[in-house]
Amino acid sequence: MDLKKFITVVPNYPKEGIQFKDITTLMDNGQAYKYATDQIVEYANKQQIDLVVGPEARGFIIGCPVAYALEVGFAPVRKEGKLPRDVIRVDYGLEYGKDVLTIHKDAIKPGQRVLITDDLLATGGTIEATIKLVESLGGVVAGIAFLIELTYLEGRSKLEGYDVLTLMKY
Ligand code: IMP
Repeated sequence: MDLKKFITVVPNYPKEGIQFKDITTLMDNGQAYKYATDQIVEYANKQQIDLVVGPEARGFIIGCPVAYALEVGFAPVRKEGKLPRDVIRVDYGLEYGKDVLTIHKDAIKPGQRVLITDDLLATGGTIEATIKLVESLGGVVAGIAFLIELTYLEGRSKLEGYDVLTLMKY
């Protein structure tokens, strides 16, 4: 299936010069959403995953159906102040600014093999921060999966040594 047919490119959003890749037109097509999920599940099966971790909010959209199919848990990575119990935090830079990500301290058991998911790899800042959180808790990043990679932003340079799957490249 040509998944790119389901992505809407929105010019000048959220600011002038950005060609925003809107995945909602993929998700609202049941067959396309299932096909994309199945590709990631097939990949994850080879990586022997114990847990899926994704940053809010679109990392949940990709990661939760994968966790369900793998019959493993999903641990959310969230912006500061959103998780109710003890967290660890990391500062990170993203394509359009700066932010903080957190994860519950007990979300990952040392040695667990983690699949990290998000919708899109841009500069790699979000995923680099998510990797730091997972590894700080003793998790092993066994795979990283995205729907989309913006190759011109070279986010992959931050992911050297990790196993990365991207379903579409721009
Ligand atoms: P990075 O941290 O620069 O790699 O940016 C990735 C994050 O920004 C992801 O969590 C995406 O959800 C979001 N993002 C950046 N550009 C786009 C886009 O064109 N479409 C959808 N999300 C985007």
